[in-house]
Amino acid sequence: MSASAIVLLGPPASGKGTQGRLLAKEKMLSYFSTGKQLRQEVKVGSLLGKEAEPYLVTGHYVPDELALALATAWIRKVKGGWVLDGFPRTLPQAEELDQALGVDSDCLRALLMEGPVAELERRVTDRRECTGCPWTGTKVQAEAFGGACPSCGGRLGQRDDDDLENFRQRLKVFEELTLPVAEYYEQSGRLLRIWGVGTPAEVFKRVKSELA
Ligand code: ADP
Repeated sequence: MSASAIVLLGPPASGKGTQGRLLAKEKMLSYFSTGKQLRQEVKVGSLLGKEAEPYLVTGHYVPDELALALATAWIRKVKGGWVLDGFPRTLPQAEELDQALGVDSDCLRALLMEGPVAELERRVTDRRECTGCPWTGTKVQAEAFGGACPSCGGRLGQRDDDDLENFRQRLKVFEELTLPVAEYYEQSGRLLRIWGVGTPAEVFKRVKSELA
């Protein structure tokens, strides 16, 4: 595993967050999810959150300027290698990221998480996350922990955008706007395709072997 600028692409619930965090831990990289950060901004009612909210509730992408501002501010602050989950999601975002990285953009690797729609739909309705930290899991796990996060004690719940109607809209936008990003990385030899079905550990083995 040599690359230390890794971006994760994939339809909703394809496992970007789970694999991104496993990867960051294993390779000692910093991890950032633009989606999680945007939900946090909405929750605390920041200016950025107020701007993002209408897009999130309807399953659309936030404007490129907004996503770019979030991601580039984070990259500028971070020391060492990193994993970006959910950024870039559009061609202009991918091009701007390459510009910002300069020659280092050659070392970037994009992981495209793939899986059948029926499985993604199942995961969306089953997924639970912590409101206070990056923990994510399933409904059964959340119930077993009595609704309290095993990592930080925060409240476990369902994401506001994890309903089937919103999922289908997000999937449509993914196909329209993010598959071209995968193509962009494929053309420059930087795309790695990961079959995302299986336990997190099984999928992570594939991630590691692709990056080796
Ligand atoms: P998922 O992959 O399950 O849709 P994420 O947490 O990655 O979940 O993203 C949730 C939402 O946040 C997206 O549907 C979109 O509205 C917004 N978002 C996250 N990252 C970006 C981005 N790079 N560009 C535009 N919108 C984004």
